[in-house]
Amino acid sequence: MKNTVLLFLVSALIIGCSSPKQRALTLDTDHLIEDIRILSSDEMQGRLVGTEGNAMAREYIINRFTEAELPVFDGSYTHDFSLERPNGNTVEGINVIGMVEGLSDSLIVITAHYDHLGVRDGLIFNGADDNASGTAALIAIADYFTGTTPNHTLIFAALDAEEGGLNGARAFVMDSVLMERVVLNINMDMISQNDKNELYAVGTYHYPELKTILETIDTGEISLLFGHDRPEDQNQDWTFASDHAPFHRLGIPFIYFGVEDHEHYHRPTDTFETIPQEFYKQSVQVILNAVIAMDNN
Ligand SMILES: [Zn+2]
Repeated sequence: MKNTVLLFLVSALIIGCSSPKQRALTLDTDHLIEDIRILSSDEMQGRLVGTEGNAMAREYIINRFTEAELPVFDGSYTHDFSLERPNGNTVEGINVIGMVEGLSDSLIVITAHYDHLGVRDGLIFNGADDNASGTAALIAIADYFTGTTPNHTLIFAALDAEEGGLNGARAFVMDSVLMERVVLNINMDMISQNDKNELYAVGTYHYPELKTILETIDTGEISLLFGHDRPEDQNQDWTFASDHAPFHRLGIPFIYFGVEDHEHYHRPTDTFETIPQEFYKQSVQVILNAVIAMDNN
């Protein structure tokens, strides 16, 4: 009898271990920090589109999506497109996309570009804030939602070739047959570097109904600010500054999360070592809270 009970317990334990991935109940901030560190490391050589370092970053993202058991989007994680560089050469860009099926057919597309400026004059532009920060957040938020059934179907897109023309985002909106079902884009680009605990949610001037939702979320120690989205802001209007722009041009509502420009912006000093980690973790938590709130509305 004792043996039977023991056998039962052991079997239950084994079955327990082999069951699908445990649902993440909170943001995995340890992995978040590890991901931003690796994506902005010198090995990735600044992740310029079409380079080996860019391919290495892409492999890393695919591995992390796989580890998170994030289902693929449209048959495969990768979405290829080509773009012409200013010198006339054609380069292949590759987006990495996964999805979590929700209760409804409506789609929320969450985006972050993983490319950056590469190496210039022998200096590596590591792009820790721009935009290893958004890419690592994308992985963390995807990991949070896998194994759940959200209200909307969530698409997680790590986009290529943002620098120099928002090419990955433009290719995505052009090639995806599902665009008619997209109700919202949430874009993250530079979300880790600020010394005043300030994070911007851009786009509510165009889509005021989204502000009402954002005003309800817990922002902890972060000041979540609105703005940078009015025509009168002139060169401080970020409406067309990152991958949310191609969505906005189609009339799809967007929220873009980002920080004020800073001393490391597009400089070789945008490294992992200069990132204030506490701010970054809290910033990603606020964005996760926003995604949850948007999904519930
Ligand atoms: Zn960027």
